[in-house]
This record gives sequence, structure tokens and C-alpha cells, in this order.
Amino acid sequence: MELPAREICYRALQSRDPRFDGLIFVGVKSTGIYCRPVCPARTAKFENCTFYGSAAAAHEAGYRPCLRCRPETAPELASWRGTSNSVSRALALIADGALDGAGRTVDALAERLGIGERQLRRLFLQHLGASPIAVAQTRRVLFAKHLIHETQMPMTEVALAAGFNSLRRFNEMFRDLFHRPPGALRRKSSVSRPSAETGITLRVRYRPPYDWESMLGFLRARAIPGVEVVDDGCYRRTVEIGSSIGSVAVAHLRERDSLNVTIQFPDVQSLPAIVTRVRRLFDVGADIETIDAHLSHDPQLAPWVAQRPGLRAPGGWDGFELAVRAVLGQQVTVVAARQLAGHLVAHHGKEVSGNFVTHPALTHVFPAAQRLASAKTIEVGMPESRRATLKALAEAAAADPHLFRPLGTIEEAIARLRTIRGVGEWTAQYIALRALREMDAFPAADIGLLRGAAMLGGTTSTPAGLLTRAELWRPWRGYAAQHLWAAVAGQNNVERRTQ
Ligand SMILES: [Zn+2]
Repeated sequence: MELPAREICYRALQSRDPRFDGLIFVGVKSTGIYCRPVCPARTAKFENCTFYGSAAAAHEAGYRPCLRCRPETAPELASWRGTSNSVSRALALIADGALDGAGRTVDALAERLGIGERQLRRLFLQHLGASPIAVAQTRRVLFAKHLIHETQMPMTEVALAAGFNSLRRFNEMFRDLFHRPPGALRRKSSVSRPSAETGITLRVRYRPPYDWESMLGFLRARAIPGVEVVDDGCYRRTVEIGSSIGSVAVAHLRERDSLNVTIQFPDVQSLPAIVTRVRRLFDVGADIETIDAHLSHDPQLAPWVAQRPGLRAPGGWDGFELAVRAVLGQQVTVVAARQLAGHLVAHHGKEVSGNFVTHPALTHVFPAAQRLASAKTIEVGMPESRRATLKALAEAAAADPHLFRPLGTIEEAIARLRTIRGVGEWTAQYIALRALREMDAFPAADIGLLRGAAMLGGTTSTPAGLLTRAELWRPWRGYAAQHLWAAVAGQNNVERRTQ
């Protein structure tokens, strides 16, 4: 895999350069430990250092994670500098648990990506320096370590949450790796031991810059009444996974380049999935410096990028929920789509009990695909054809749990979504961008994008014109779209203030 020269990596280590955090890890031969480049410990001798591009590669080489700099807290990048789409998709699927549990093999993972198993292994070795299995194992170990350090969850819950089916296996793994039991890693605390059911808080680090205000503004404008609420600089929502219901709250810790994530959820085994969803919704893994630099090559877009450094492209919390919102948003304003979503939730969403209400405005969970598919009629103030589309979407999602997962190429994903009755090019591109995280998807016919394009100048006020213009923004057209939307939202705010 491509790493900077050893001398450059070592200089980064000597100066504890935060720009390299998350991009390189150093294994120290004399101690058997691997570190982030910002580790406060004394810098090892040059000849003892081996550099890796991922924690998994260091793990696979036999190193154990440092207890001081805590590699599990390094900002994790979802895409490796745009090197390989298959690797990015595979990583998203592994984060979703594709290699956790019986029958979840590398073979099956490769098949879902439409490539051979050997090719997948080769790509992983080339881009990450580690096998897919090592990546999944490292994730589990590091997630457990994160929970041990930052929460007071009982060890049995930590073991379960990290995907270990027995406490004994978990303890053995820890003894092997750290030569001590997991409890020894925990700081002494007088705090009682809250469980995931009563609420735990974790920090999720990103690589700066991060335009938090724009992210929160985007989510606030689209917050579904009853399900999501944004106030006091915090995003909150209800969560349903399997048969369990809980809530999540996300705030910003600017001075720590982190999101502060508070989760209340009765099923600890869902914790990794919830953290993965937070990362996706808040676009935590974006290699934003590279993306901003790329978009700045467009002289007209460059001032906008400079105005909003670190602007992220929000993902969808749940594929089906996002797709429903896309249909509700067909040919109407953001405000109208939000009202429609509120009606749909009030009629079809499940009411949440008092136990998990962390905010009085959170009253329902978003209706699951099965629930809408089996409803006699869908109660929402829209024409019959649009309601038929919702029904078709719910049936398709209920029949295929992988409908909103990345699979094959972006063109294949768009084509697959377009087979659903009433899902046209705009809707499919929007779903691909926000739910499938195809960051080059681009809903060119979007009213907001066309308005933004008009503000940008040039001959781009038609979808065809905009598509031609957008060629320059590949492979990150989705981020350019976000800049256009943000500019329109900014102008709307100014208009509102001056009225
Ligand atoms: Zn360290």
C-alpha cells in the first residue's frame, strides 16, 4: 500500500503531527505496541519503527494497541483516498457486521460486491495492508477497548457489544493481546456502572475541518416531527433496530475534533451498528481535505469551499427511511416534505414508551418497511400515484433487506432502484447519494441544485447543463451538490432575516 516514505512518517512521529493521525500507525518492534503518530510516549528509535496505513495492518503484523494514545480513537477514514470503490464498499459492509457471526464469510462478502474472493483479498492487501478478517477482528477489539475506556458498562455487556459470544473468549483474547484482564484497562471510577439501557456516551473523532453548523442546519430543516429533533446544538432521534427501541443524541466537541454520542438502547449487540449509523449520518469518515482541495479546482466553486471548509455530505440514518423521504420530497419544497413525513409518522409510526424519551418531542419511531407494506392504505396527503410509489418502495424494501446497501457499480445501483414503480432518476440518485453513500451520485434535476447552480453562474440552469458542468467535480459530485444546497439555504436565511 502507498505510504509516505519512512523518513517522512518518522518526522511526523517525532513532531506528533496531527495531520497524519488516522492515516499512519507505527508498530514499535522493541515493545510490540502500535501507536498513533500523536502518541505522547517517548518516540521510539527509527530502526524499531514500522509504519502501517491501518490499525488492522499493525494488528495483523502482531502488534497490540497502545494504552496511551489509544488507536481506537484515531479518526477513521471511510474511503482510502479514493483508491478503490470495492474497498470502500467492503469496509462499509464490514462496519455493518458483514463478517461478524456464523456464516458471514469473506466469500459471501466478495459475492455481494460482485468480485471474486481472491480479488477482494488482493485489494485489501494492496490498499490496507491487511486481510478482510483482520480488519473485522481489529474493529471488534478496538470497539471493546473504546467501551472499556470511555464507559462504565459491565464487562459482560462490553463483550456482547463487541461481538464476542462468551465472556470467557473475550477475556482470553484480552489476556493474549494485552497480558492482563480487560478490567485492568479501566480507570478506577466511583461512578456506578450504567449500561447501554440507561445510557452511555462515546466520543467519535473526525479529521478536521468539520462544518458542524451547516450539518446541523441541514438536519434541522429536514427533521421528521416525532422522530428527530434539533435544539441546543444537539441532534436527537429515536432508534429502532430489530425489536428494540431507544434513542441517540449527537453533539459537537470542537476542541476535541469529535462528536459526543449518547446512546440509550436496551440491546448492547446493536451498539456497533448504532455507532456506524452515526458515522454515516454525520459523514465522519470523509477525507475532507482531499475533497475540498479537489472541488477548489473549479474557480467558481472555490470561494464557496473556502467559505464552508469541512462541509460534510449527510448520510441517511436508515436506507428505507431516507428513500421514503426522497419520495415525499418529489417536486415539493424541503418544508412541505418535512410536513408530509410528519403526517406519515403520526399515522403509521410506532409510539415510543416513556422509558426512552430523552426529549418531549420524540414520540415515535419511523415506520418500518414491513409496517408500511402491510398497511391497507398509506395515510399521507399526497396524490394516489405518489402513495402507490410509497407502497411499492415498502414492498421492495421488505422483500430485499439489501436494497439500500452498496452492491455492484453505481450505475447498477441506480438501475436497481429505478425498477421500483415511481422511482425516477432524481429519486434514485438522491437515494444513492444519501443512503448508499455513492459520493459521486448527483440528482441533477433537483430544484435546490438548479437554484444553487444559477447562483454559481455560467450556463448551468438546466439539468443537462448542470450535468455537463458537474463532470469537473467527479468523483465527488455529491459534495459539490452539498455546497450548492448550502448556498441556497444560506440565501434563504438571509431573505428570511431581511423580510
Ligand atoms: Zn501510543
